[in-house]
Amino acid sequence: MKAWVLENICDLQTEKKPLVMIDVSLPEPGEHEVRIRILCCGVCHTELDEIEGRTPPASFPMTLGHQVVGLIDKNGPGSRRFKAGDRVGVAWIYSVCGECEDCLAGRENLCTYFKGTGRDANGGYAEYMIVNEKFAYLIPKIFTDAQAAPLLCAGAIGYRSLNLTGLINGQTLGLSGFGASGHLVLKMATFLFPDSKIQVFARNKTEQEFAKSLGAYWAGDFNETPPIKAHAIIDTTPVWNTIMQSLLNLHAGGRLIINAIRKEDVDKESLLAINYSQHLWLEKEIKSVANIVREDVERFLELAASIPIVSEVEIYAFDKANEAIHDLKHKHVKGAKVLVMP
Ligand SMILES: [Zn+2]
Ligand SMILES: [Zn+2]
Repeated sequence: MKAWVLENICDLQTEKKPLVMIDVSLPEPGEHEVRIRILCCGVCHTELDEIEGRTPPASFPMTLGHQVVGLIDKNGPGSRRFKAGDRVGVAWIYSVCGECEDCLAGRENLCTYFKGTGRDANGGYAEYMIVNEKFAYLIPKIFTDAQAAPLLCAGAIGYRSLNLTGLINGQTLGLSGFGASGHLVLKMATFLFPDSKIQVFARNKTEQEFAKSLGAYWAGDFNETPPIKAHAIIDTTPVWNTIMQSLLNLHAGGRLIINAIRKEDVDKESLLAINYSQHLWLEKEIKSVANIVREDVERFLELAASIPIVSEVEIYAFDKANEAIHDLKHKHVKGAKVLVMP
């Protein structure tokens, strides 16, 4: 089968083709595993973090990709959850130990042995992949393959972020950054919190207009002052100056959720301008969101199907993986990028 692999970490400012297409033998599903014939795979900002070494693969070569939609191709021994031909998804959570304090308490996202799909095990930029059947999810019929892909990461982690805000209907929500996760969270939030006002910070007019067209009460640039101080803000940007702005824009007692697996170092010194009374005083909180649990994926897929949330996607042919990575790094994103099999 054909698979894209990352052979080493590299700098995407200079490297145009970080991934290499190779031929590998078809993987065989082990006990309780399934083999999935991949139909498409979403392209996520986390892939940039993996390629550039902020959260590097556990080993090389590694096939990236953790928003996988495909058909069950073969059940391994003892695997009975799905039948051949079922359409399933695989998300960022590839496996956990299942035995530690965090796993037993329902916080499997925090498990020390958490494995991320496409980082610690081969993921979806390939024709086939293997996963334990407990870490695959039936995809609701309402979605096309490509529409379902971004729901598995951007959607599921967006859902977790929104839950972590503790927002109550009527309170104001801010979204700092408006990529794939941001637009899904906006759709979710307008459904779950119909009386809440949602303020979106985005870097260009196109994104701001897009946010307004999806129901944002206000949209502006990161350095603009929004009309209302928010009770919660979700940050999905890769940088730090937005964190400082968000803290300023929080209401007393407000909570900032940072939804980023890693932050880039480019503007880290902007943190030195922190002013305790303006940025943190009055019980402002900061909390990061780490990984997802299976329940996030299951519940979010259900919610997305009932609203329904239909992702805006930009399709790339499977052989254009490097172009998709390049565009995600260097161009403004409207919807979510998805690699589709021929
Ligand atoms: Zn992702
Ligand atoms: Zn564990």
